[in-house]
Amino acid sequence: MIEHILNKAFFSKTDILRLLNTTKDEAVLLYQKAAKVKEEHVGNKVYFRGLIEMSNICSKDCFYCGIRKSNKQFERYTLENEAILEAARFAYSENYASLVIQSGELQSAHFTDNISNLLKTIKLESNHELGITISLGEQEKSVYQKWFNAGAHRYLLRIESSNKELYYKLHPKDKEHDFENRISCIRTLKEIGFQTGTGIMIGLPFQKLEHLAEDLLFMKDMDIDMCGMGPYVEHADTPLFQYKDQLLSQRERFVLSLKMIAILRLMMPKINIAAATALQAIDPLGREKALKVGANIMMPNITPGVYRNDYSLYQNKPCVDEEASDCKNCLEARINLTGNTIGYGQWGDSKHFLEKQKTLLDY
Ligand code: SAH
Ligand code: SF4
Repeated sequence: MIEHILNKAFFSKTDILRLLNTTKDEAVLLYQKAAKVKEEHVGNKVYFRGLIEMSNICSKDCFYCGIRKSNKQFERYTLENEAILEAARFAYSENYASLVIQSGELQSAHFTDNISNLLKTIKLESNHELGITISLGEQEKSVYQKWFNAGAHRYLLRIESSNKELYYKLHPKDKEHDFENRISCIRTLKEIGFQTGTGIMIGLPFQKLEHLAEDLLFMKDMDIDMCGMGPYVEHADTPLFQYKDQLLSQRERFVLSLKMIAILRLMMPKINIAAATALQAIDPLGREKALKVGANIMMPNITPGVYRNDYSLYQNKPCVDEEASDCKNCLEARINLTGNTIGYGQWGDSKHFLEKQKTLLDY
């Protein structure tokens, strides 16, 4: 049985592999333990970050992603600043307390300056009450610093896979998709003082359980503050789609994602872990199930309805036809059913990060 592993203070790669290989009955023990550790360390509150998908224009060509540069099968859009501010006002008025601004990756001065201005305006308009996470890809240190100074205080940059060989099966092998640069960006974000999040996709072609175990050890080793990870969901207009018959079933990818979340909660009890939207693409209650096994962050989509269909990173994206307020109502009912309550009006920053800060100040 796995009890002796669950009670360990540190997991080895072998321990993690054993936990990833748990049978259905054993997994219940893993989930229960993760739920208990979550309750003890971060409580049973879910914090909202209203998700704004700012633009689907991207200069990169990741092999898994539906909005990659080479995909010509859909309309590109960039939200007007006013639409972004309107979404931010909605989040503020609904007491969501935080936003995530996400976009395809662009490096132009126009893009970076515009983001700075938006961040400043959102902070001003919300009386500095809205917390802002950004997820805008790899940038120069000076750009990250500018955005930090403008008011963003959390950054999400998934490593996608921490295994270099696998990384290059998922990305073109060129300067724009450099594995070392992605790691170095995560380090830079931490240095600047962002609460820094990373994550991976689960159930990718060529991915083995060993890779997933290494990914969790990578997150621990990088001492990250937040994690967003979820199942890989194939997209027909991408190069990786050719491997669709070699994948685990969507259900298996889903279960593996829950196990990954539960194990990470045990390894890093005080970090923030998002219930990734991709979970809901596979199971209508996917995110709620993640909240029951260790996740504590939810990102309700508040992108204006007309654009949602075009921010199609993967197929079956949930809630693409709904208005943001509909999502809020259904979310609330579903979250209450999980035994969690919503931390309305609270940033819900990473306790892991805050305690590190405090230790630094104590010296
Ligand atoms: N361009 C930025 C942020 C937007 S993409 C970046 O890449 O960092 C946000 C995340 O969507 C990516 O990190 C990736 O993990 C996820 N994603 C892309 N395609 C996906 C797919 N087919 N299945 C599941 N997640 C996907
Ligand atoms: Fe662009 Fe991000 Fe998609 Fe890669 S994952 S193609 S960087 S939006």
